[in-house]
Amino acid sequence: MHARTLLGTVALATAVSACSAHETASAGGSLQPGRRTNPTNTTTAPPTAAPGGAGSSGHRPSPPPAATQSPTTPHNATPDTPAARAARYVFPVRNCPTSYAHAHHDYPATDIFATRGCAFVAVTAGRVDEVSDADTWSARTNLGAARGGLSVSIIGDDGVRYYGSHLSSLTAGIAAGSPVQAGQLLGAVGDSGDAKGVGTHVHFGISWPGRAQDWWVRRGELYPWPYLDSWRTGGTRTPAPAVTSLRTQRGQEPSCTVDC
Ligand SMILES: [Zn+2]
Repeated sequence: MHARTLLGTVALATAVSACSAHETASAGGSLQPGRRTNPTNTTTAPPTAAPGGAGSSGHRPSPPPAATQSPTTPHNATPDTPAARAARYVFPVRNCPTSYAHAHHDYPATDIFATRGCAFVAVTAGRVDEVSDADTWSARTNLGAARGGLSVSIIGDDGVRYYGSHLSSLTAGIAAGSPVQAGQLLGAVGDSGDAKGVGTHVHFGISWPGRAQDWWVRRGELYPWPYLDSWRTGGTRTPAPAVTSLRTQRGQEPSCTVDC
């Protein structure tokens, strides 16, 4: 991402709005066909505050500042559980230039731009929660549950759910329930779902584990970039406390209020 700041910014301007445009309609939270859920994971996760600003207004938020060089504070992790304290984190896209902004349209998430086929990896050790192995999105219906196209969610040993979508393929053997290690290959960067025409990227979301049908939670509740900045530079900042407190504020199953 470092090398592509300018390009990334341009791409982001497009993508942020495009993503937004697509990630719009759809009443109800029907499950995406092709989605596989791990029935064993459903609750959990601990506490605290959302970093970052509020979601942008409307559908076409102004393109955020180029994200790339934010120096980071890798050591200011605020773990609140033994698992979180012990967790190891890695940046979710490996061995490829990437770019991302410190902003996202409408709700907390980060779009990490990278070339098609780049490795999307598990950010920490845990277990696969859900996979969507079929791209059923259509512009006509724009169902919320289908906007991610091919995606993988894991629940880290830190109790946090991590979601990556718009993949071009999933790694063989990655299925709901599979244990994963930090850095393990989950899939490849692409533009499936409503990312078509936007530029290949991973939409990365951080949330607490919850019901499969609550796609608006899975897509992101906590701004990821403070953690991405840390992991990108070898830091181990954990989102676990922030996720826990955010869940306390929002409730385990908040209803969809934006881009629904
Ligand atoms: Zn996005």
